[in-house]
Formats: sequence, structure tokens, C-alpha cells
Amino acid sequence: MPRLAAERWEMSILNHKLEEIYDEYFRAATLHPNWPEDLIHQAAIVGEEAGELLQAALKYTYEDGTRAAIRKEAIQTAAMCYRLLINL
Ligand SMILES: [Mg+2]
Repeated sequence: MPRLAAERWEMSILNHKLEEIYDEYFRAATLHPNWPEDLIHQAAIVGEEAGELLQAALKYTYEDGTRAAIRKEAIQTAAMCYRLLINL
């Protein structure tokens, strides 16, 4: 695939993923409107989601986990990263 076509294809996928992350960001912000003001607790929330992502990956690799579960946790982790960044 030519480089430009590959970049457009990747951009298309990235845009789709960003929409999912935005949806999760606003879902979480509505469900949990109070975001902590201190960075340690903000980072802990990101870390909690990253831990769930790792747990989903381990479950997929060694047990009966699914790629869908990994995808869900990756989106949640990215959404919480955005929330931290927006509040920095
Ligand atoms: Mg999660």
C-alpha cells in the first residue's frame, strides 16, 4: 500500500478510535462528575484503568478473556488520560 494511502487508512482508524474515546470520556464525566483536584488521585484513576487493561490482557492470554474486554479497558484508560490532561 502506498505511504499516503496507508496514512489515510491509519487516520481513518484513529478517528474512529478517538470517537470511542470521546464517547467514553463524556459517559464517565456524566457518571462521575467530581474529578479530583490533586494530581496524585487523578493519576491513580488513570493507573486503575491501566491496571484493568493489563488484567484484561492477562485474562485474554492465559484464561478465557476476550479482545473486546481489552479494547474496552484501553478506551477507558485513554479517556481517563484525556480527563487528566484536560485538567492539567
Ligand atoms: Mg475499566
